[in-house]
Amino acid sequence: MSFADLLRVTPGTTPDLEAIDPDGTPGFDGDKDAGHEALKPLRVELADFQERLWAESRESLLIVLQALDAGGKDGVIRKVVSAFNPQGTRVTGYGVPTEEELRHDYLWRIHANAPGHGRIGVFNRSHYEDVLVVRVNELVPESVWRQRYDQINDFEAHLAANGTRIVKFYLHISRDEQRRRFRKRLDNPEKNWKWSSGDLETRSKWDDFQSAYTDALARCSTDVAPWFIVPADRKWYRDLAVAGVLAETARDMNPRWPVIDEDLSAIVIPE
Ligand code: ADP
Repeated sequence: MSFADLLRVTPGTTPDLEAIDPDGTPGFDGDKDAGHEALKPLRVELADFQERLWAESRESLLIVLQALDAGGKDGVIRKVVSAFNPQGTRVTGYGVPTEEELRHDYLWRIHANAPGHGRIGVFNRSHYEDVLVVRVNELVPESVWRQRYDQINDFEAHLAANGTRIVKFYLHISRDEQRRRFRKRLDNPEKNWKWSSGDLETRSKWDDFQSAYTDALARCSTDVAPWFIVPADRKWYRDLAVAGVLAETARDMNPRWPVIDEDLSAIVIPE
């Protein structure tokens, strides 16, 4: 079975995050070295896809990355998204909204960064924060965030109907693995810069985040914008699985080299 089939949240179902092993490697039997080898041809395939997407300029691809702190979003960007030509790719990170952003609806800043035809957009965090951190930290009343699942589905359906293919990844790490990664950030001077004391506050609300993620995954995995839950304790598997789902998406989109009407064989290039 393909990575996409194994990891997709079937629309209309509620995933049981506790039952999904963050250390698992569904769809792959090999070890770390084999995983690294298997990633290589996928990266080549993704690069080729991106060139055709760009040349054809008919559709766009939006990749949404969500995870708890230290979940590996940055790693996926470094190891997988880097296969794409930067010229046609834009990564947008979403932090605490600015004053101006707060004066608009929460999708305003998101829509502004949706990829145009031929482009790939990568969201490092996204509008899902507005039903995750915003819900857990009670930044708006429940009556407000409750409405957002439907609004998000409508918004994503709108993008899809206008030529944007959407794939969303939740990188699923265990509590223990998060602890190990935080520890490294504290112990390794080269990783100190990644440490933020706010991360501990978020960790203290682990169960609330699991509930909020479960609802987002259950309510917003749709045919046009599916969620994929990627076991992410093993970095090599995480990268392989994300690349695998993207490669399957790329095959399905299958952008074509544009066919030029003009008779190119008649063109003479002067000496
Ligand atoms: P990252 O942790 O992704 O590497 P930052 O350190 O800039 O990036 O953290 C971004 C922070 O912004 C996170 O704590 C996240 O929860 C917060 N954030 C993102 N979107 C929102 C939002 N809509 N409302 C409140 N906080 C948000």
